[in-house]
Amino acid sequence: MSLPLIDVHTHMYLPRYVALLRERKQIPRIVSREKGDRLIILPDEEADGSTSAGRPIGSEFYEVSRKLAFMDQHNIAVSVVSSANPWIDFVEAGEAPVLATQLNEDLEKICAESKGRIYGFGVLPLQRPETCADELKRLAAYPHMRGIIIGSAGRGQGLDDPAFEPIWKTAADLGLFVFVHPHYGVGHELFPDTGHAMMLAMGFTFETSIAVARLILRGALERHPALKLLIAHAGGTLPYLAGRLDSCVKNDISKDFGLPKPPSHYLRQCWYDSIAYHPPALAALTAFADPAKIMFGTDHPFFRPHVGDAVLDRTTWPVAEENVAAMASLTEAQQKAIAYENGLKAFRINLPSA
Ligand code: URA
Ligand code: ZN
Repeated sequence: MSLPLIDVHTHMYLPRYVALLRERKQIPRIVSREKGDRLIILPDEEADGSTSAGRPIGSEFYEVSRKLAFMDQHNIAVSVVSSANPWIDFVEAGEAPVLATQLNEDLEKICAESKGRIYGFGVLPLQRPETCADELKRLAAYPHMRGIIIGSAGRGQGLDDPAFEPIWKTAADLGLFVFVHPHYGVGHELFPDTGHAMMLAMGFTFETSIAVARLILRGALERHPALKLLIAHAGGTLPYLAGRLDSCVKNDISKDFGLPKPPSHYLRQCWYDSIAYHPPALAALTAFADPAKIMFGTDHPFFRPHVGDAVLDRTTWPVAEENVAAMASLTEAQQKAIAYENGLKAFRINLPSA
């Protein structure tokens, strides 16, 4: 019998945001092409002038009914939905606070109408850090919002940007999760002409790893032990590299970070999704992380099932199937914890009745 699932890494572009992307003439934007709508969020997608450039985007990215259909198809009882990258990073500073509030209200409304199937992570207007604590307080008062999603680049200066200190403090005080997710990638110059593959596999994971490591080295988790960081894509590379990070910090005579504990101590305070696609990676994660802090994720609606250019809308989704299959060699207790028990507890939710 398949276990019920709580999906903590699953996205939507909210309809208000899609309308904004359709109006834009620069990235990020949505363009209508001969072969359908295309989402253009990365610079190389814009540079590629071919008619199929960009990623196919259909209603599975913005219609709640499609999210629910995907959940039903894959035994996902509850989703904690977040906006997808690049969130509102590109918005003028003066407009960002209002847009963030509107998007957060939109998502709360979707959750409230979902009969317990959908909860949410909001967005923050990072270009106006001084307004973020108020937005967090507003979010905490919504019945279905459980935290925020934040890009690993912050407002361009990383997450250890001193202006973000009130974000960590307020989120910790309010018990809100901070879901750290990549967008810009790192190392592009090292992998030209590789489509999206290297960017998403390597650029994304190292972006997240570096951002979280910097945040830890600057003492954010030492100052805010109650801060609930949820790190995307099974922690990027961090569960595997934690020991090396400890060793490099300990042996660096050029720099003293002044931390009373090694970085791995703080990494063990963090939460992780299970999006590894691969038993050995999941084994590293389960060996490293607190067993109560690993939760199932899919990354839906990215990585749509397709054959060549043709999107297969009605088949099952590998992002769900592969991440369930990767759990097969774990114990039954570990599988249950990751599939739903940890998510239910962490996000204070109940399994909806069938
Ligand atoms: N997953 C995401 O969340 N965003 C992307 O752009 C690609 C994969
Ligand atoms: Zn994602």
